[in-house]
Amino acid sequence: MRAFQFVEWQRPGQLRDVPVPEPGPGEVLVKVGGAGACHSDLHLLELPAGSRSFALPFTLGHENAGWVERLGPGATGFAAGDAVIVYGPWGCGLCMNCRQGMENYCQTPGRPSPGGLGGTDGGMAEYLLVPSTRYLIPLGDLDPRGAAPLSDAGLTSYHAVKRSVHLLGPGSTAVVIGAGGLGQMAIQVLKALCGATTVVAVDLSADKLVIAKDMGADETLVSGDAAVAAVRAITKGQGAEVVLDLVGVTPTLTMAAQMARVLGHLTIVGVGGAALPVNFSSPPHECAVASPFWGSIPELIEVIALATAGKITTLVEHFTLDEAAHAYHLLHDGQIQGRAVISPHG
Ligand SMILES: [Zn+2]
Ligand SMILES: [Zn+2]
Repeated sequence: MRAFQFVEWQRPGQLRDVPVPEPGPGEVLVKVGGAGACHSDLHLLELPAGSRSFALPFTLGHENAGWVERLGPGATGFAAGDAVIVYGPWGCGLCMNCRQGMENYCQTPGRPSPGGLGGTDGGMAEYLLVPSTRYLIPLGDLDPRGAAPLSDAGLTSYHAVKRSVHLLGPGSTAVVIGAGGLGQMAIQVLKALCGATTVVAVDLSADKLVIAKDMGADETLVSGDAAVAAVRAITKGQGAEVVLDLVGVTPTLTMAAQMARVLGHLTIVGVGGAALPVNFSSPPHECAVASPFWGSIPELIEVIALATAGKITTLVEHFTLDEAAHAYHLLHDGQIQGRAVISPHG
């Protein structure tokens, strides 16, 4: 089969021929419907040689959905043809965090080892080997080609919002910095879970702000000092209860610290890698800063429920495996309006 792989450090991914994996005991082979292209893949591909311990090559794609193709010996609960979404962070399954469904925070050294993010093969191929049925969530009537982004862009945004829901009652304000794939999800999740909060979207791109408005943002602001002043005005000088930075570079973190309020939440989701200066007066007093990573299995079940109810939708641009390299170019250049999804079977 063909697979789009991370072959060499600091080089674009490459399409290669590899054997179709055979599911071993407890494993499942999934026919890939969609594999999302994520900004974190671009960060991975740009790493200097040897900066991570995993071996190359491996197949990219950590945001996957498809149909069960074949169950390995002893794997039960699913049948060939079932539409499924794949939970991405693969932990040990035995530690306290894993047993609570938070395999994203597996306590076993070296875990989680998600397919497509660090040495283990991901879903940008015709077939994906999934280590356990516990990573499969039934999609029901949702189309795997369109649903794939729910497993990362959807779940990551959902988890980031959910920890702050208690702050977002009537009269509150939530700011979403970065209105790309993750931001569009975060806006919809905020409207679904915290319907009375004012959602403010901030981005450099006027096009993305138009989409943000369509996704339910109450206010849209172009990034910069004027956006900070506007948030202070919207919140009557207090700042926002919750600021989600889905970018994580110095200008966005600086804005985030200036937009948050005393006792608020500043949540860094973007993998931009810049540092947020923290001192006695900034961010505001008792504003909690967190950097969540992905989400839990129960939360993915909730995300699928929201999507099934039509409360969140993904804006997807489809590409074939042959077009995967091109899709990453567009993503790198900021030309993907929602999420780029590779659909190996059309
Ligand atoms: Zn990702
Ligand atoms: Zn674990």
